[in-house]
Amino acid sequence: MSDDTRTDADKARRHKASMQKQKARVDAAVEAADNERGVVILLTGNGKGKSSSAFGMVMRALGYGHSVGVVQFIKGVQLSGEEIYLRDHCPTVDFHQMGTGFTWNTQDRDSDIAAAEATWAKVEPMLADPGKDLVILDEITYMIGYKYLDEAKVLDAIANRPVEQSVIVTGRGGGSALRELADTVSEVKDIKHAFKAGIKARKGVDY
Ligand code: ATP
Ligand code: MG
Repeated sequence: MSDDTRTDADKARRHKASMQKQKARVDAAVEAADNERGVVILLTGNGKGKSSSAFGMVMRALGYGHSVGVVQFIKGVQLSGEEIYLRDHCPTVDFHQMGTGFTWNTQDRDSDIAAAEATWAKVEPMLADPGKDLVILDEITYMIGYKYLDEAKVLDAIANRPVEQSVIVTGRGGGSALRELADTVSEVKDIKHAFKAGIKARKGVDY
């Protein structure tokens, strides 16, 4: 047996031993996670990928025939690919948008608050419906941050949702109470973004 062969055999043995240990750890963790219930997921941070991650989970849920509700706060002035797709191809998805655009476009606090409340009125029945498996609250963190919606009201409704229902909240910030309530919190970090290098937002990638 050459030295090279021995090294390869040794590498393979060590890899197998390491994978066996890893499998034991993963199996034990899977065994320990025996609490079956819906979860609250907060996708936050300054980087790109929060809403698109949420829509990835919409696709997953639809794959299993789950009942999905999507409510987009802020968005709605400009069309997005997800809106076009859901409206044209997923008639079962309960889809609503606030449709007023960003606060720096509306520049009118009272009308923003009225729009936020009207949009919240679409959310409340979803969060009370045991038939809804997944509810996406896209960009709702800004409604809490600007105090357009009462934080306690929003958090209570999420906390008191049906036990099997999962809720995904996206947007920068959101506050410590929301972080506390969420079961999973992921922060997307802005390392760099094409827009800052002067590259225009792209159809099918950015909207
Ligand atoms: P996406 O919808 O692409 O997942 P997001 O939900 O994480 O993005 P938002 O703050 O909702 O981020 O902004 C949506 C739009 O802003 C997208 O067009 C996205 O490419 C762009 N965007 C997101 N993060 C940044 C950033 N750090 N700098 C510049 N533009 C950004
Ligand atoms: Mg977003």
